[in-house]
Amino acid sequence: MAQQDTEQQAPVSSAVLPVDDEGFVIDTENPGEREAAYRERGTSRPVTVVGNPVLHKECKDVTAFDDELAKLVDDMFASQRAAEGVGLAANQIGVDLKVFVYDCPDDDGVRHVGVVCNPVLQDLPADQRSLDDSNEGCLSVPTAYASLARPDYAVVKGQDEKGNPITVRGTGYFARCLQHETDHLYGYLYIDRLSKRERKDALRQMEEGTPRYETVPNA
Ligand SMILES: [Zn+2]
Repeated sequence: MAQQDTEQQAPVSSAVLPVDDEGFVIDTENPGEREAAYRERGTSRPVTVVGNPVLHKECKDVTAFDDELAKLVDDMFASQRAAEGVGLAANQIGVDLKVFVYDCPDDDGVRHVGVVCNPVLQDLPADQRSLDDSNEGCLSVPTAYASLARPDYAVVKGQDEKGNPITVRGTGYFARCLQHETDHLYGYLYIDRLSKRERKDALRQMEEGTPRYETVPNA
């Protein structure tokens, strides 16, 4: 999980989002407007499901912060909305790149909307968080849910879609989302963190359910 080298790719644009006094990105201003702008430019794509190889390996670092990446981000927001998700990683629409998008409420019900490229989850001292064992689900494990203990506070460092360094922090459900989406880009699904028995149960739930959105059939 090495921090990516950004030396030869100096950001040419200004930051996408403002930053607060502590250096954390402010992703709560005009969330609806920003999400709609991305989504309306994009096209929804079908979602990959557990078993598809692209979900089970580490994705490539983003090195080109160009129009193609911007188009991918737009499509990710469109796909996230179509599937009614609160977060989506690029490999969930079949793209092998370290990018995730989110549209997720935090502990206080405040909506966060943003994009993280090359995310690295920060290790936090235990006194800064406690474990929360709420239910978790994943668009790539359609119709299944399982209780999973995770820290209720998370900090992710990465870059915005223009290549500027950013630090995102989240509480509650949004903290869970930041951890879940970062995991995706390193090849892990939340069911990989469950016991054997719970994992089996989640897969059974998936077999028995029908997703309300388009998925990519596994070969
Ligand atoms: Zn997921």
